[in-house]
Amino acid sequence: MPVINFSSVRKYVDVPDDAERILSRPEKQQIYNLNVHHDQGLLVQTDAYVVYYSTVRGPAKGGIRFWHDVNLEETTTLAELMVWKTALTGIPFGGGKSGIRADHHKLTRFQKTVIMKEFIHLLRNDVVEGTYIPAPDMGTNPIDMAVIFGETHITECVTGKPVGVGGLPGRLQATGRGVSTIADMTAAHLLNKPVEDISVAIQGFGNVGSWTAHFLYGKGARVVAVSDIDGGIADSKGLNVPELMAHKTEGNPVVDLPGSARISNEELLAMDVDILIPAAAGEVIVPANAADIRAKAVVEGANHPVVAEADPILRENNILVVPDILTNAGGVVASYVEWHKGKSGALSGEQETFEVVDKLLGDAFLHMKDLAGDSTDDLRNAAMALAAGKVVQSMKERGWI
Ligand code: NAD
Repeated sequence: MPVINFSSVRKYVDVPDDAERILSRPEKQQIYNLNVHHDQGLLVQTDAYVVYYSTVRGPAKGGIRFWHDVNLEETTTLAELMVWKTALTGIPFGGGKSGIRADHHKLTRFQKTVIMKEFIHLLRNDVVEGTYIPAPDMGTNPIDMAVIFGETHITECVTGKPVGVGGLPGRLQATGRGVSTIADMTAAHLLNKPVEDISVAIQGFGNVGSWTAHFLYGKGARVVAVSDIDGGIADSKGLNVPELMAHKTEGNPVVDLPGSARISNEELLAMDVDILIPAAAGEVIVPANAADIRAKAVVEGANHPVVAEADPILRENNILVVPDILTNAGGVVASYVEWHKGKSGALSGEQETFEVVDKLLGDAFLHMKDLAGDSTDDLRNAAMALAAGKVVQSMKERGWI
């Protein structure tokens, strides 16, 4: 089943039946068996998945997830979300994703590099031709993207690279930057509160969660709780985010920060805050815990953190949900800028990246809000409708429907 709910989206936009049929299935799904030799000749075998969900609007764009439990179904869902994300923000890419099924926490840098190189070796033609343009996702980082660059020496074939090898200043922070911009606009336009007056709880303190905290703290919001896979910490007066960032940069779990009260991930999700930002794994708000959520708004930093069956429960409890395809699109917007600059050779700075992210996401937020009108409990479908309208238009222009 696709993530998009065509019958709900048709409230806002015409989606012809043939478009629904085409968009209900991924264009291409590939399963690779990775065989790599690690130290002392140890043979490690694992699976990798690559999905191109739709390339009607451009090449398949999407990150590489390197996590112990990735599977083909999850990779397909994430690839579909990229279709809507790129369309909603108006960047000329399609949607793709890949997943490598391995626990990166248990690998040395050398072992992970060997796996990345083997993966790109198998996917080489698509990456070199620009059919698929990878980027970081959970468990991958700029160094992994530099490994891909090292295999091809084509600057624009991968985004999210370190700045020293053709990366874009501001790309590392871009997803969190966009999440903070959308949280700010949610407060101002939907909760009628200035950002300085809001309390925020953030699940996940990796790339997205930590930079979201950084920017929201900079705007004056009170970040009252954060967590990672080992658990969380809370302080109703507001956490010292710069101290937390330094603590995390040294490789420490957030729960090890001295002097803060510990909470579990479940407790964090149920906190009475203005804005809850799930920014870790997917499918964390499900029917079993949706009724416990007490935030006024859930701003989806992660991909697919609220499952479809939990949406109506949040709606019944008057909890707004600002969807992932808008909220975390800052990363792919910055990736587009990186790809473009890689092709042209032009250079630019961090502030320019942030300005593009703020503008494209800000415009998309206002369009979504206008389309939803009084139905502020239906923002996901309004955002999906805007995206679907653009995808359908491209399908017509290409003679697919
Ligand atoms: P990351 O690997 O940098 O960080 C993931 C964080 O989540 C870590 O702090 C980890 O400890 C925590 N975590 C993992 N499982 C958890 C669990 N079950 N409970 C609590 N915490 C848990 O990953 P990231 O790049 O920050 O990605 C986070 C989410 O944002 C993912 O859903 C990803 O698809 C999405 N996303 C990432 C980007 C990007 O540019 N990195 C862009 C768009 C969307």
